[in-house]
Amino acid sequence: MDCFAMIDWQAGFSDGRFFWIEWHFWKVIGWLGNLVFTSRFIIQWLATEKKKRVVVPSAFWWLSLIGTLLLLSYALFYTHDSVFIFAYAFSWIPYIRNLIIHRRHKKAHTACAACANVCAPESNFCSACGAKLPEDVASAI
Ligand SMILES: [Zn+2]
Repeated sequence: MDCFAMIDWQAGFSDGRFFWIEWHFWKVIGWLGNLVFTSRFIIQWLATEKKKRVVVPSAFWWLSLIGTLLLLSYALFYTHDSVFIFAYAFSWIPYIRNLIIHRRHKKAHTACAACANVCAPESNFCSACGAKLPEDVASAI
């Protein structure tokens, strides 16, 4: 028997349903959370393919944080499911910590006085022109 014919298409798109989901405010929040949370893997994968090495861009942590907050609010205010609430109750902590570390690392880069190239933290010499860089201020903190 044809599986496609077995699907009740009428029920999936009637009585306020769209793709068999009864949409309302919290369903939109929950599905938006799913979409944002899942999109982080695509962003991370694309960044890794682009650099040809494993990369975790700050966008990954932002999407993780936003997705988690949306899914946590869905669990807290709509499903009231303790398993679901616990799954998202604490995961935002490492996301925020990673965003802070990303920001500090970005700020720790040094601009070369000779050629304006932005050099990696703790560099002694410019990677573009070879000029001596000033003492790394960030590492002294
Ligand atoms: Zn330079």
